[in-house]
Amino acid sequence: MTRVVDTAGLDEIVRLLRAAGRTVIAPTVRDGTIVPAEIESGAELPIGWTEDQNGGYYRLAATDTPERFAFSSPSDSWKRYLHPPRTLLVRTRSTEAGIDVELPDPSAPSVALFGVRSCDLAAMHVLDQVFLDDAATDPGYAARRADAFIVAAGCAHPGNTCFCASMQTGPTPNAGYDLAVAELYDNGQHRFLIDSGSDRGANLLAEVDSRPATEADTAAAAAAHDNAVQHMGRTLSPSDPPAAAAHTDHPRWDDVAERCLACGNCTMVCPTCFCSSTQDSSGLIPGEAERWRVWDSCFTADFSSVHGGPVRSTTRSRYRQWLLHKLVTWHDQFGMSGCVGCGRCITACPVGIDLTAEIAALARSGSESGEAPNTTNATVT
Ligand code: SF4
Ligand code: SF4
Repeated sequence: MTRVVDTAGLDEIVRLLRAAGRTVIAPTVRDGTIVPAEIESGAELPIGWTEDQNGGYYRLAATDTPERFAFSSPSDSWKRYLHPPRTLLVRTRSTEAGIDVELPDPSAPSVALFGVRSCDLAAMHVLDQVFLDDAATDPGYAARRADAFIVAAGCAHPGNTCFCASMQTGPTPNAGYDLAVAELYDNGQHRFLIDSGSDRGANLLAEVDSRPATEADTAAAAAAHDNAVQHMGRTLSPSDPPAAAAHTDHPRWDDVAERCLACGNCTMVCPTCFCSSTQDSSGLIPGEAERWRVWDSCFTADFSSVHGGPVRSTTRSRYRQWLLHKLVTWHDQFGMSGCVGCGRCITACPVGIDLTAEIAALARSGSESGEAPNTTNATVT
């Protein structure tokens, strides 16, 4: 049953999670932006803040309400808390008896991810397909994912760059959480509708002072959802990616390559990009060496280097690989889209490249280019 808590009740949830030994990671204002970071109390949520996002543009803006979740999605995703940017894989030491091999302990520090948007929940599901595959489970990811207590937050204030509604990943979370919060602020009344999605969520909610939701509460939450869908800043038509993929030699790829700096920002902020490379290092301690896994990007020339040079030697081929992998061939690999419509890659792109505009342009003009369609749907380089 849906329960309703006030602001003190929301703060109490944060307090209880911390009292249970969890580090609470929640949206908070840091360095002029809203990012997920550790908080010690509900007072550190972005109270009275929203943001303005667009291609290559992000600005915080004050609101005149005490809402905690009046922004769209944090500018950084939650990926780093499940798939850290740097992970020690192995450390070796040479000893008189031979080589000692030390594997890192995969057990995870206990965290609560608090205020996760629906698009980011969907992104975690995408990462699960990669890291929890039966044939090659990543032990560190598996430990972090299993332990993480997830408090989802419905989105009533989508940004200019959001398109989760057209990717069917939001704006209201419907699975994959321990608790889900819907913030309502109307006629000066401030309350939070809370659903539990697991036994541990229900047990925690039972410790908080709450009342049952009324019909008026649930109607207000439904209206907030509908309003968010109508005010989603961008859309991506499901028929456009396959149409674009049929035109792998379209001149639009040259056009976007001229604008793209191959900086990799889009892949770093993307909650589903998971590519990494390994780095070996030897430190100042004689005989000791380490191997680390570090985030990498398909926009770097090195990433596709096989003997003799990169397979994708041009920005055109790298952008096309990224876009068509996200939106087309990901379906073949994982049975779902690799894009959840969070819009972060649009905001973080220094030249404002917008994947929804690129894919729409390719789908719309592909047949007018004079280029023969590639009917295999394959991503070529
Ligand atoms: S491709 Fe862009 S919009 Fe899609 S999930 Fe990644 S960052 Fe978000
Ligand atoms: S699309 Fe934008 S963010 Fe991505 S690599 Fe190119 S310039 Fe950088």
